[in-house]
Amino acid sequence: MNSALRHPSPSIRTAKLLIDGKFIDSKSAHWQDIINPATQEVVGRVPMATAEEVEAAIASAHHAFDKWRRTPIGTRARVMLKFQELVRNNIKRIAHTLTTEQGKTLADAEGDIFRGLEVVEHACAIGTLQLGEFAENVATDVDTFTMRQPIGVCVGITPFNFPAMIPLWMFPMAIVCGNTFVLKPSEQDPLSTMELVELALEAGVPPGVLNVVHGGRNVVDALCTHSAIKAISFVGSTHVGTHVYELGSKHGKRVQSMMGAKNHAVVLPDAPREQTINALIGAAFGAAGQRCMAASVVVLVGKAQEWLPDFVKKAKSLTVGSGDQPNTDVGPVVSTRARDRIVGLINAGVSEGATLDLDGRNVLVNGFEQGNFVGPTIFSDVEPDMTIYREEIFGPVAVVVNVDSLDDAISLINKNPMGNGVAIFTRSGAAARRFQSDIDVGQVGINVPIPVPVPYFSFTGSRGSKLGDLGPYGKQVVQFYTQTKTVTARWFDDEDSNAGVNMTIALR
Ligand code: NAD
Repeated sequence: MNSALRHPSPSIRTAKLLIDGKFIDSKSAHWQDIINPATQEVVGRVPMATAEEVEAAIASAHHAFDKWRRTPIGTRARVMLKFQELVRNNIKRIAHTLTTEQGKTLADAEGDIFRGLEVVEHACAIGTLQLGEFAENVATDVDTFTMRQPIGVCVGITPFNFPAMIPLWMFPMAIVCGNTFVLKPSEQDPLSTMELVELALEAGVPPGVLNVVHGGRNVVDALCTHSAIKAISFVGSTHVGTHVYELGSKHGKRVQSMMGAKNHAVVLPDAPREQTINALIGAAFGAAGQRCMAASVVVLVGKAQEWLPDFVKKAKSLTVGSGDQPNTDVGPVVSTRARDRIVGLINAGVSEGATLDLDGRNVLVNGFEQGNFVGPTIFSDVEPDMTIYREEIFGPVAVVVNVDSLDDAISLINKNPMGNGVAIFTRSGAAARRFQSDIDVGQVGINVPIPVPVPYFSFTGSRGSKLGDLGPYGKQVVQFYTQTKTVTARWFDDEDSNAGVNMTIALR
């Protein structure tokens, strides 16, 4: 906890709890500062909610469920229609808060909100998304149909890197399906998330349907083990995601955990050179590399290895600075701890023998000398057993691996335990088709560096990047947030249709 760093003035913004439709100040004795990563200024404070507050949030959601699940689909959809309008109208304001507490550039902060807004737009289509199935005459006068019913109180636990998009992956779809929700935002940047939550209430989400508690492990563990909780969506690091998955599953919850990554971008020599390098630069260094779908490993195949100097030159041209400055390409990383960790991994790359082609460790930004900056960093001659290849760096660091053929690239990637995203750059349809078929990674980009699907599809990270069968948003999350009930029904027309006693299991 970094509350000892500064003493914020009493007027400083606090992250409220939302319990039963009311925004309240926590009674907790444990608070954490929310720090602007470009300046180290304290921009707010966040409480570690007490056990009683967590209990009250769950009780409120539990109580609200019975009425909300009976609320007509159209009413629920119209709340989302209003919510999407409010989010759209407030993007710039929320983006400003997001940049202040998270560090990413204003343009990227707007992108963070917009990708979440797309999920809210999709939630408006719940009328067709939540349809059941119907089969007439499965036996004489017997029909069978399914209903997709909400499951109860659901929980969302979100990471720092997308404080708008990832909460918006979760609560809109959960509540539009008729569930109630307890959200636990990242304690590092909860203020922008709370601005979205305020708009959800303004849009008409009734008291108790959406609740928010803040905190760390104690709060998360209380949510994962509470008997009233039916499902948990987690997005964050692999070690916490595994813990949440195991604890929640042990306590009978449905759990989806979207976790860490190591995403490869394969470059074939026939790819369009300029576009490919531009795409790699954006995907490796955008958001200071703090994206779960960042292209952090560049795999140069054959003659594409000659492109390394161009890649380095372009990376050098990026401007590192505060996210609120108009010319900034790469903002600060979220905390001094994150920066120290990234610098430690760069040091490991050097000591393990990789070639450091571009070193971002000592970057200085005029006027923002206290910021957590790491400049774009590139390693080549990287081997799969090096720490910088094995670990998710989660900073603006690209590691370049050389291979001889597409086969070698596929084999390298399929041996990596992570499976969030992958991309290939080529002009060859045949090579791309082979890649999409043989690569064992859940989300594939073809000349698209960050293939995060739009919400008519689902987020389908795989293998070590995911636990649980069903991913966030799209059709899969409707399955995740609902229980299928199947009804088999016979209506007797008159006495004549009585076929007597049926002692078998056959329907007749
Ligand atoms: P994190 O795991 O530190 O935190 C995620 C959430 O878990 C936060 O709400 C946090 O308060 C809580 N938490 C932290 N420590 C905990 C503990 N010991 N016990 C219980 N809960 C705890 O992750 P982060 O640093 O905020 O986010 C970055 C990570 O998230 C990266 O690994 C990134 O790849 C991953 N991520 C994955 C996806 C995906 O879709 N696969 C998307 C975004 C981010």
